[in-house]
Amino acid sequence: MNSSLPAPYPELTDPTAQATWESCLDIIRPQISSLSFKTWFQPVVPLRLENGHLTIKVPSQFFYDWLEEHYRSLISKTVESVLGPDGRLFYSIGVDELSQDATATAPAPVASGERPATMPSFAPYIAYKAEYTQPIHSNLNPRYTFDNFIKGDSNQLARAAALAVGNNPGGTSFNPLVIYGGTGLGKTHLMHALGNHAIALGKAKRVCYVSSEKFTVDFVEAIQADRVNEFSQFYRSMDLLIVDDIQFFSGKEKTQDNFFHTFNALYQVGKQIVLSSDVPPKELKGLDERLISRFQCGLTADIQAPDLETRIAILQKKAQENRLDLPQSVIDLIASNVTTNIRELEGCLISLLARASLENREITTDLAKDVLRMVVQEMKAPVSIEQIQRLVAEYLDVPFDLLRAKTRKQEVVHARQVSMFLAKELTNSSLKTIGLHFGGRDHSTVIHACQTVDDRLRSDANFRQQLDQLRRKLELRG
Ligand code: ADP
Ligand code: MG
Repeated sequence: MNSSLPAPYPELTDPTAQATWESCLDIIRPQISSLSFKTWFQPVVPLRLENGHLTIKVPSQFFYDWLEEHYRSLISKTVESVLGPDGRLFYSIGVDELSQDATATAPAPVASGERPATMPSFAPYIAYKAEYTQPIHSNLNPRYTFDNFIKGDSNQLARAAALAVGNNPGGTSFNPLVIYGGTGLGKTHLMHALGNHAIALGKAKRVCYVSSEKFTVDFVEAIQADRVNEFSQFYRSMDLLIVDDIQFFSGKEKTQDNFFHTFNALYQVGKQIVLSSDVPPKELKGLDERLISRFQCGLTADIQAPDLETRIAILQKKAQENRLDLPQSVIDLIASNVTTNIRELEGCLISLLARASLENREITTDLAKDVLRMVVQEMKAPVSIEQIQRLVAEYLDVPFDLLRAKTRKQEVVHARQVSMFLAKELTNSSLKTIGLHFGGRDHSTVIHACQTVDDRLRSDANFRQQLDQLRRKLELRG
């Protein structure tokens, strides 16, 4: 490339991609006029080379169409001779004038011969969709179906709405469908059931279930790897996008922004969006108003704690699934003691089974009472990072919000480090997740915090006491 010409995009290029593309140019240059070379090949920027996939960036959709129409075969042969028969070329297209995002990736299969010679020159994400026709992994759990979801007053609306949407994704006025309710009440089950149902009926091909936590972590990774376009386009190519536990988007502005555009792109072309949350959308804290108002334009359905009859029906169903002959008195006993959470109800049953088979005992009400006593104790929900943050903030008297803010004030830094340390110790969250809960800090910051607290614990008896007190308070919570 002529280095006196400014590169059209100031992106960092990967040196191996650069070298590969240079080799391609060396082959192409002698085969075309120098004017054509200068016009059509010099402005191309090689972005990256991964697993034999070279991604190049071109300035516009028009530019891309032109290359495809006039140089497809030349480029294809060239890429093959440089990267081997499995080599592939992807385009990333600058489309500032077309979309809110600065760019969109439109991978164009060039190297493999069986691909169509030209790609439609619609909006880039449609060109991208042409690439994404192969099945994707939906992350749906086939065990969650409508068949094994027990109907009750507490979940009637949510279930009916989920079924309607599963029957006709994108075709009802329930878009988005937002299901909200407390933990362990069946939100995730219903969403998987909806997705499985839509696929079984052939009503949606590209279905993706993702937790908002995973969406966030992947988004952060995409930023780091300079692959935000691919990330966005992947989600925008869905027929049915299911995002679980959107309360986790709280405070993550960049992720929210990306999700906002994804939401709009899908909504505008009539694709279905299904969301769940632990509170009604309007009560979601730390979420952009624009998002909240989008969430409210479809149907919001709640799931309440199940009543006694539903709990009994659920236990009977689970017992039946496990081929377990449970005395009615045991079912009644469990159903009347575990009242707020279906996951606990199941946990109780499993423990009962385990105890009975380990000790080779019959399942009686006495054994059930024994198990209940232990299970109810153990099953207190694990402490969350937010609970830790609130308690530490209160205990050390710093404003809770500052734990997630940028401030480097010493007392805030201290409270933040203590919270990170406890989050590492008391939750199963990864360092990355913990970092995200503290205003998107890096995992290395969390490691540093844990080390700092650890060092101080060794040398400072007062601090050790403080920390023990905090742990006790967290254990006693609720
Ligand atoms: P949430 O996502 O609301 O926290 P889940 O969907 O994970 O709750 O449900 C917790 C457990 O309870 C799952 O194993 C699920 O299969 C079961 N469950 C919840 N509601 C029902 C129901 N109505 N019928 C049968 N099982 C249920
Ligand atoms: Mg869930």
